[in-house]
Amino acid sequence: MPSEIKRLRALLANRKLSCQELVMAYLRAIERDNPVLNAYVHVTQHQAMQAARRVDEMQTSSGTFEEPGPLAGIPFTLKDNISTLGLETSCCSKMLTGYRPSYDATVWKILQDNGAVLLGKSNMDEFAMGSSCETSCFGGARNPCNPNYVAGGSSGGAAAAVGGRLAVFGIGSDTGGSIRQPASFCGLVGLKPTYGAVSRYGLIAYASSFDQLGPITRSVEDAAILFDILAQKDEKDSTSRGKKEPVAPGLQNEIRGLRIGVLRELLSGADDAVQCCLEQAIKTFESLGAQIIELSVPMLAYAVPVYYILACAEAASNLGRYDGIRYGYAVDSYGDLDERICKTRSQAFGREVQRRILLGNFVLSSGYHQAYYQRAAHLRGELIKAVASCFAKCDLLLAPTVPSTAFLPGFAQRNSVQTYQTDQCTVLANLAGLPAVSLPCGCGPNGLPVGMQLIGGCFEEGILLRAAWHFEQDTAGAFLPKLEMGCGL
Ligand code: GLN
Repeated sequence: MPSEIKRLRALLANRKLSCQELVMAYLRAIERDNPVLNAYVHVTQHQAMQAARRVDEMQTSSGTFEEPGPLAGIPFTLKDNISTLGLETSCCSKMLTGYRPSYDATVWKILQDNGAVLLGKSNMDEFAMGSSCETSCFGGARNPCNPNYVAGGSSGGAAAAVGGRLAVFGIGSDTGGSIRQPASFCGLVGLKPTYGAVSRYGLIAYASSFDQLGPITRSVEDAAILFDILAQKDEKDSTSRGKKEPVAPGLQNEIRGLRIGVLRELLSGADDAVQCCLEQAIKTFESLGAQIIELSVPMLAYAVPVYYILACAEAASNLGRYDGIRYGYAVDSYGDLDERICKTRSQAFGREVQRRILLGNFVLSSGYHQAYYQRAAHLRGELIKAVASCFAKCDLLLAPTVPSTAFLPGFAQRNSVQTYQTDQCTVLANLAGLPAVSLPCGCGPNGLPVGMQLIGGCFEEGILLRAAWHFEQDTAGAFLPKLEMGCGL
């Protein structure tokens, strides 16, 4: 797939199109198609038009398009858990409805500095907890490939917007798969960078030792361009480390001889259709000169319980700040302080968030701490060692992104534990802090996209995206959804 960012930048630079025309076309498409997709929960129409005007003015006055930045005029969306100064950031929760942050997240600041135009905030599972976007207080986002299905979660709105051509790219967060899973469901590219590559400053925390921000795009090249822009060291995030070197210029370098390890346990746990597409993808990599290595990591069976114990423990602590006193929702009739806190949290958090807070506090409570939290933390370390030994034998790991195609609405709500289990392929990269990308590799019998996941070593986004780029070139983007909706420009 050619880069959408480059294509649009060329149109803008050659003055075939003004930025205001481009942004207006996207806003019109949002007005028409958002009622079906529910991708956006706040549209920043006024600010978007102002930003577009600034880009047009800058271009006229400087005469050169490079001036306003490499993303100048490119319309995009931010997940609703990314802080935007003065613009509602609700995490799709009643708890934060109407909350306007007093500062900008670093990623948003970088994108503004590079001239990108924010169209609005995208739908998500409440506080990023979920796999279908349906725990959102605004209702779930629908799949642009077939709106009878969910877009996935938790960054479902960003995927619905990009897939439905209501944004050129989306920025999501990924704690246990929330960028890659909706990208897989909607036939898109989703990149979760190495933990620490992109600053988390201003990202409203779910589970801080797992959370990472990254792009959802229609092409691997766009993911690489955005990674290069976003991966910067940030003083405001003590875990941020930036990156080694730019990855976009190296995408076309050879992948002959690259050693790709196939995680058999994850592959054999997937639906037949997913297995079939992945087997085909493995053949494609072989034909591109990669060496396929079969791997078995029995410990992977523990990845989902370890992730849920640790993520819920961190969430219980992170969400302790919503007490109805400092900010966010607050009840107005209560007896004492305890009742105020209790009533506020019971009324403003949805069922899934409450379940996880309870679970998190349980695994941290005295008497259970050792049996659950400490044991899970120990197993996390063992899983990290097991993956490290895989990287001694190969350069990349290959697995499905999700064991199935997109769910029907209501499935995740009715089958919580079964849905947790569908994170079996994605959580490993978060537990180990590794970069991973999902890209389309086929279609299921229902016509919905199947995603392939590649996992790289720490800060090896270069190799990761290079392999993804060659695969995408070979398959000529054949698996991208063909759509009639969205902005046709
Ligand atoms: N589905 C996973 C969960 O519910 C992942 C969420 C995420 O990455 N934010 O925790």
